[in-house]
Amino acid sequence: MGGPFLEIRLDTIASNAQAIVDFCSSFGVEVWGVTKGCCGMPEVARAMLSGGVSGIGESRLANISRLREAGIDAPFLMLRLPHISEARSIVEAFDMSLNSEIDTIRALAAEARAMRKRHGVILMVDTGDLREGLWPDRVSETARKIADLDGVELVGLGTNLSCYGGVIPSEANLGLLVQLARQIEQELGVGLKYISGGNTSTLPLMASSKLPRGINMLRIGEAILQGTESIHRTPWPGTRQDAFVLHAEVIEIADKPSVPIGERGQDGFGGFPVFEDRGIIRRAIVNIGRQDVLVENLTCLDKGVTILGASSDHMILDATHAHQPLKIGDTVSFNLGYGAMLQAMTSPYIEKKPAP
Ligand SMILES: *Cc1c(COP(=O)(O)O)cnc(C)c1O
Repeated sequence: MGGPFLEIRLDTIASNAQAIVDFCSSFGVEVWGVTKGCCGMPEVARAMLSGGVSGIGESRLANISRLREAGIDAPFLMLRLPHISEARSIVEAFDMSLNSEIDTIRALAAEARAMRKRHGVILMVDTGDLREGLWPDRVSETARKIADLDGVELVGLGTNLSCYGGVIPSEANLGLLVQLARQIEQELGVGLKYISGGNTSTLPLMASSKLPRGINMLRIGEAILQGTESIHRTPWPGTRQDAFVLHAEVIEIADKPSVPIGERGQDGFGGFPVFEDRGIIRRAIVNIGRQDVLVENLTCLDKGVTILGASSDHMILDATHAHQPLKIGDTVSFNLGYGAMLQAMTSPYIEKKPAP
């Protein structure tokens, strides 16, 4: 197959995982590797596990099925709140899930009893990001209800930050999580195995030695896959940022103006693009587009080449200052941010080439 392809460097993913695991373990925190950014690709999960993650977190049943069918034997954690209609499959496929709704937890418990299994529940607390989780004043009451159910075990409390509201993990919001966990342990007379303090965005707090004592688990995708933290997207020490590289082919190259000629209406996606007049430039078109990838989240590896824009199937580059002059049939390579990686992994038109 000769189309665009995504190179996936598994050794980089493994060494990134190991760097994060080593860093977190020095703070007594275990790392669960999150593979949802690459559609649960089994090779990626294996690389993360070889780097020492304790288990795999996934947001979709289809992805976990892929991992199980590939023979990956690791504890699995469901990240997205389970759908009640999928309760049976969730219990079958996952050892634990993040939850906030007692009705869903009851359904999981019923399925687990029918299967003579015990399903782990991490109760999610909304500490301010306003995505999933119980409001703090409801946590104690819900924990008590879970404790009364057979088939599920309350294994911990968790929170998620920086995803919807962009709220930065802090001593205050994660401190609240720890405080609630301790309160529940006292009230119920049980020990909670996990206090799950978020995702990649918690790493900087840890690095500044301000992670509240008691947080003992993080669910990490981006820092392992991308080698960046997710608050300012700066490279994380000891990791590499080039685990994923996208390659596309030049299908036209010509010297043309930088501003379109003629009366202008909407572009193909309903926008009204603006154009900077750079005079006559060398324009290259490559064989990927908005159907395949989040174009704004790509950077060309040749720093002299900039991305001008894209339609569904064509991406247009300014190759005037290319360090490596481009010609028809050449391959152009791009670094991908998290969003571009996610979309490229999801596009059936981009071949995935995992390489050791
Ligand atoms: C996606 C997700 C993660 C991983 O987030 P990263 O920023 O990629 O580390 C962790 N927890 C939950 C609940 C998630 O949905």
